[in-house]
Amino acid sequence: DSDPTLRPERQPEDIDRALRPQMLDEFVGQAEARANLKVFIQSARQREEAMDHTLFHGPPGLGKTTLAQIMARELGVGFRMTSGPVLAKAGDLAAILTNLEARDVLFIDEIHRLNPAVEEVLYPALEDFELDLVIGEGPAARTVRIELQPFTLVGATTRMGLLTTPLRDRFGIPTRLQFYTEDELFIIVDRNARKLGAPADEGGAREIARRARGTPRIAGRLLRRVVDFAVVEGDGRVTQELADMALTRLGVDRLGLDGADRRYLSLIAENYQGGPVGIETMSAALSESRDALEEVIEPYLLQQGLIQRTPRGRMLAQKAWTHLGLAPPKSADL
Ligand code: ADP
Repeated sequence: DSDPTLRPERQPEDIDRALRPQMLDEFVGQAEARANLKVFIQSARQREEAMDHTLFHGPPGLGKTTLAQIMARELGVGFRMTSGPVLAKAGDLAAILTNLEARDVLFIDEIHRLNPAVEEVLYPALEDFELDLVIGEGPAARTVRIELQPFTLVGATTRMGLLTTPLRDRFGIPTRLQFYTEDELFIIVDRNARKLGAPADEGGAREIARRARGTPRIAGRLLRRVVDFAVVEGDGRVTQELADMALTRLGVDRLGLDGADRRYLSLIAENYQGGPVGIETMSAALSESRDALEEVIEPYLLQQGLIQRTPRGRMLAQKAWTHLGLAPPKSADL
């Protein structure tokens, strides 16, 4: 039972690993971030120091984890990975920090969800590579200071606004990731299709890239589903026609919006005459958490100019009315 190919439930993960770019030069898109990181990585290597702490922020699936892994590889150091919600107690973080080797990269995903007690422990560790641990309880309690190896923290967050100011201030390299262009996603889809052994023709790869919501993770997922349709219902080739058919059947429309996106837009159009409508109201009406709306759904709708965020709430833009095939109410202020 050790043959991983015999365990289909593990497959997506294995494929994902195989598709992940390994080095900075293979990483497509994010040109500005990539160029800067290249300089900071090279400088750290030449000075033989731990690279400065780095924060990646932006919507899910844009490559934050991938870039953190690439950094470790390019720096030639070890990589440890954890996440904010997993670090329940100060001791959990202390155990990880004391096990780091010199200049290692520690990646903390969802760093905005760190418990405040854990965050306290992190500050001196980031600033001076020191850990203050309280040993014992009551009158016998005392603090011991432990020296740590210099390391690089790479934090990732989908919600920069939820980071406390002291934590945010301790990152020397804050980096915002952007949605990918269609051309960038085209390169990623084309490359991944080859790696999957199911080459896509130009039109097929373009169709997937165009409908991937500016997000490499979604591009990868759509590609795998389209390949499934190509194998079962086509002749195995990913053509534009086949991609269009498959994506439409998956509920992904011409702009790349899925069912959740369309429900969001339709709610504002049909129940609130185009808005404005408050986020809490939207959350209740859609039975989606406010976080999910703000982190996953809204960033792309905003970037596409489908909605606007105003002090009084969310509003539909003209493009959304057109996309939904509806006419805005006469009084709508677009
Ligand atoms: P995040 O941590 O921002 O949620 P990940 O780093 O986990 O995103 O990336 C999600 C998926 O997209 C992974 O499968 C990764 O291989 C792929 N991916 C992300 N960025 C790129 C890129 N620039 N080029 C190719 N694939 C990418």
